[in-house]
Amino acid sequence: MTMQSVLSRVDTETHPLPTPRDHITSERTRSMIRIQQALLAGAREALAREGAVELLHPVIGPVTDPGSRGAKQVDVDYYGNRYKLMTSSILYKQTSLLAFDRIFLIAPNVRLEPIETSSTRRHLTEFHQIDVELAGATRDDAMAVAERLVRHAVATVVDRHSGLLESLGRDPEVLSAFAARPFGRVTHAEVVTELHRIGHSQSTGTEIEWDAEELISSTANGPFFVTDYPKGSRGFYDRENPEEASRLLNFDLIAPEGCGELCSGSEREYEYAKIVTRMRETGENPAKYAWYLDVIRQGIPASAGFGIGLERLTRWVAGLDSVWEANAYPKLPGVVSP
Ligand code: ASP
Ligand code: MG
Repeated sequence: MTMQSVLSRVDTETHPLPTPRDHITSERTRSMIRIQQALLAGAREALAREGAVELLHPVIGPVTDPGSRGAKQVDVDYYGNRYKLMTSSILYKQTSLLAFDRIFLIAPNVRLEPIETSSTRRHLTEFHQIDVELAGATRDDAMAVAERLVRHAVATVVDRHSGLLESLGRDPEVLSAFAARPFGRVTHAEVVTELHRIGHSQSTGTEIEWDAEELISSTANGPFFVTDYPKGSRGFYDRENPEEASRLLNFDLIAPEGCGELCSGSEREYEYAKIVTRMRETGENPAKYAWYLDVIRQGIPASAGFGIGLERLTRWVAGLDSVWEANAYPKLPGVVSP
């Protein structure tokens, strides 16, 4: 399949995909890259204030994050061993807390998302995360750090690049107003109730469907958190709520204006026996995770953390139509591209 042949599924009228050359040389892409640079600078500054140390994590490993919603992992032949490209750095984030109490990384991730997601305007198969992990933190602590980080990153862009934002048709004042309000907070159960009230089908025990997420995002008056996703909707490392075992101590941050999810995070499971149980419950074979479980067995700190999708954040901040515009060499699900 070529870049062109997927056009029918990518809303060609409003978001035609340019050729790689046209994309990288366009003024729009250049503006996006400068805005992205300011977002990263703002994020790094915010995380330095939080006392977090920046690490560089592996791109391949014997095992990777299994918790990514229907996405396939990519195998790599590593001297006769089957390795994986990282779908996320979660395993390394947790174990790195043995060196520093607060860490972050700007990490590339590869997830072969289901082909239907090529038309959600928020899925790329290759993307970057601002990945944060905080020893001894609760879910609330992690949410507060995510909120300060997003606010500061947005403020940095508005400070440095209001002209570029305007050139993209993004009103810097509207953006500042969104980021100035305290982020809202609703539970997954409340979202489901509201969706049912307006006649939208949504199961109580699963992730929020893509179209429903777009709906709640487009009616929001600013970024907001959805908390307490049901067990079974996420991977083994999101901590089970000790007071309500069917719920996880996790959250997503949803952007307004129909952009949807920016970030997922949680308080973590960190005890060996519990992690092994959760792996089994989620259909993972603990034997595959030998290196990780060896570290966990000797003890790691309790923690909470999150990963912000950099291209999604860029899309929202820059007011872009689709997430592929926020990557210089975008890869959409199902599309063969450079
Ligand atoms: N690993 C999660 C993800 O990639 C983010 C996190 O919980 O830190 O969605
Ligand atoms: Mg997520």
